[in-house]
Amino acid sequence: MGESNDPVAVLFEMTKKALNQKLELGDTEIMISRESVEKMPQPVKEYKNLEEFENDINECTKCPLHEGRNKFVFGVGNPNADIMFVGEGPGRDEDLKGEPFVGRAGKLLDKILAAIHFDRSEVYIGNIVKCRPPNNRDPEPSEMEICLPYLMQQIEMINPRFICCLGRIAAQALLETKLPLGKLRGTFHDWNDRKVLVTYHPAALLRFQQYKRDTWEDVQKLRKAYDEYKASS
Ligand code: SF4
Repeated sequence: MGESNDPVAVLFEMTKKALNQKLELGDTEIMISRESVEKMPQPVKEYKNLEEFENDINECTKCPLHEGRNKFVFGVGNPNADIMFVGEGPGRDEDLKGEPFVGRAGKLLDKILAAIHFDRSEVYIGNIVKCRPPNNRDPEPSEMEICLPYLMQQIEMINPRFICCLGRIAAQALLETKLPLGKLRGTFHDWNDRKVLVTYHPAALLRFQQYKRDTWEDVQKLRKAYDEYKASS
């Protein structure tokens, strides 16, 4: 595990690092631009519900991804879900509709859910970044770092027992690791009192049929663990 994702801890660490650099250079005063402060993760606020949270952040301009967005893509599903699915970011269809996983990959995700007897409305689906990266490129590490506190707060509010990361980017960002997907999938990771499973992104399955079998095995594990959890709670 790497550094904390807690926004207050991240803010503290960033400030400490900046101050130490200044002191090492012999400076006794520090100037922080308004732009830098606005980009820093903000301390967690209290919200009554997810809707109130979404309304507070849906005009976010903290990272450059806001420049090309049509719609902010907050997330969708059961606000009390036991399982949350997390992808890397919105694509073209998601950006137009303002909802995650609605294009071809989204339809495949619906099929995967149906295969393990879940409906989209029973789970919660979100992304690491909430605005579409241009030309569907991977989100930059800096963009993910700025946006991640929003997802962390969603997770706190929804409080799912299980999180399924869809694809390498989402898994590495959430688990704060550089391990490849092949090393991350197949087992549950203990993370902040939750169980995290990693599998392939549905868009990868559309391109590489050979990943389907592994994905099937992964989601079967998720269903089994969920059933065991429900039976014991
Ligand atoms: S991707 Fe996240 S941090 Fe960047 S502008 Fe959108 S909501 Fe804000």
